Amino acid sequence: MRKLVGAVVVSRGKPVGTAFNRVGSAKLFFGGRTFISPFSRHAEIRAVIQAGISNISGSTLYVWRNTKDGTPALARPCGNCMAILQILGVKRVAYTTNAHPFYEVEAIPKIPS
Ligand SMILES: [Zn+2]
Repeated sequence: MRKLVGAVVVSRGKPVGTAFNRVGSAKLFFGGRTFISPFSRHAEIRAVIQAGISNISGSTLYVWRNTKDGTPALARPCGNCMAILQILGVKRVAYTTNAHPFYEVEAIPKIPS
């Protein structure tokens, strides 16, 4: 079943970036590593790009996913997205799950400087 994914970046209590998933396949090279490109289908990355670099550090990212009938589905960001979120300083991510209570909140550990 087709699933829809959306993401919102919230910084200092305000929504600063919003995006939905899209189709794409280009790659992004960052810090000597290869990631899925900001032009990819991943809503998380599209949302943080829209938010702008100065709004990302310390922010919370909300990601939701639901099936066509509206049932919440697992929306934990993939490994590539998690790595990018950590590098950018996103503080935590909250995402929908497919079982009660239908969400999970995860702290993203800071990269030691
Ligand atoms: Zn991803």
